[in-house]
Amino acid sequence: MSYVDEVIEKVKAKNPNEPEFIQAVTEVLNSLRLVVDNDERYQKEALLERIVEPERIIMFRVPWVDDNGKVQVNRGMRVQFNSAIGPYKGGLRLHPSVNLSIIKFLGFEQIFKNSLTGLPIGGGKGGSDFDPKGKSDREVMAFCQSFMTELCKYIGADTDVPAGDIGTGAREIGYMYGQYKRIRNLSEGVLTGKGLSYGGSLARTEATGYGLVYIVEELLKSKGDTIVGKTAAVSGAGNVAIYAIQKLEQLGAKAVTCSDSTGWVYDPDGIDVAALKEIKEVKRARLTEYTKYRPNAEYHEGRGVWNIKVDLALPCATQNELLIDDAKALVANGTKVVAEGANMPTTLEATEYLQENGIYFVPGKAANAGGVATSALEMSQNSMRYSWTFEEVDAKLKQIMVSIFHNIDDAAKEYGVENNYVAGANIAGFKKVADAMLAHGIV
Ligand code: GLU
Repeated sequence: MSYVDEVIEKVKAKNPNEPEFIQAVTEVLNSLRLVVDNDERYQKEALLERIVEPERIIMFRVPWVDDNGKVQVNRGMRVQFNSAIGPYKGGLRLHPSVNLSIIKFLGFEQIFKNSLTGLPIGGGKGGSDFDPKGKSDREVMAFCQSFMTELCKYIGADTDVPAGDIGTGAREIGYMYGQYKRIRNLSEGVLTGKGLSYGGSLARTEATGYGLVYIVEELLKSKGDTIVGKTAAVSGAGNVAIYAIQKLEQLGAKAVTCSDSTGWVYDPDGIDVAALKEIKEVKRARLTEYTKYRPNAEYHEGRGVWNIKVDLALPCATQNELLIDDAKALVANGTKVVAEGANMPTTLEATEYLQENGIYFVPGKAANAGGVATSALEMSQNSMRYSWTFEEVDAKLKQIMVSIFHNIDDAAKEYGVENNYVAGANIAGFKKVADAMLAHGIV
């Protein structure tokens, strides 16, 4: 049995109840065959066994009181996965689906994503099964304060720097930061995605969506094509989707769909970003509202954005949302590029189908790295006690996305798998972390 297969089997045996984590490990390790099969140091030093095992997992009780005076208890966690190249860095997901498998898969992906940014940040992820949906501001604050009261013991600007993810936006980061500062008596860049009045970075909010479109633009450019005039199907209606849609419009392309947990919108004239922002960010309402703003648009219950004929597909909602049948529909419709704004939105089966049928597929760890890259820029600004203008941060973001594209493209070419950006991203992300781990000895 090859070294890679041996480690995949061990991971499956050790973590039988963690399907998402196994999925992420399988995808990454499969691409690393090209690297580890030709260099015995990796096996000798048990590099793969070490990289699939989190350095530390913290799991804790989060008690809080709801508006009816009832005591609620959630489970909080932080997976500090790998600090070989810098402090743990990664978001906090607040969603009822959160469990250890999901946080471990996200933390594992984050190691390679963060490495690809070229910035000194390790991989981590955390969250809770708390559902912010439908909760009052006071309830959200009570949860966030209780969550941070425990988490603050394990994080710090040079140790572990959490951020937003699904369910964790500016409001939640604000409450968490306030509690951290109060307990630890430290004004430091311990969280990113902060408000602009207390150390946040301009362009952080937009960064993931903008970065996604920048990398697609660069990919098309490298193929002698252009993003101008392209149509796009976007899923999701959160922070990533909103700013991807906005950047598409700014660059002369057009997003015609978006979706939320219950339905989706098709707007042939192009999704109206202002309407979307008002519905999702101000009213915190459902997409059913969209047709009130745009009578020509259609609202449908359920799922369906991947059935629309478009040039680009940008899944920006959540893991495993683009399935094999969706991949078949995209291929049949002549879609050129699928780039992941969310983390692991495409199943393994769907990914392979897209790649086998000539669609350029850019995995999330490269395509959505603009968010965490800009978080690292926020950390830099906090350390310098300085802030860059929007244009400065945006220019750095664009430069980072362009260099990620060429990095993964070059890695794919070097290993003889041209256009396989999954392999290119995994190899390029892995090599830097592995080098650092080898240099550090058996730790
Ligand atoms: N949650 C985002 C991600 O998946 C951002 C993490 C961060 O900014 O630290 O990469």
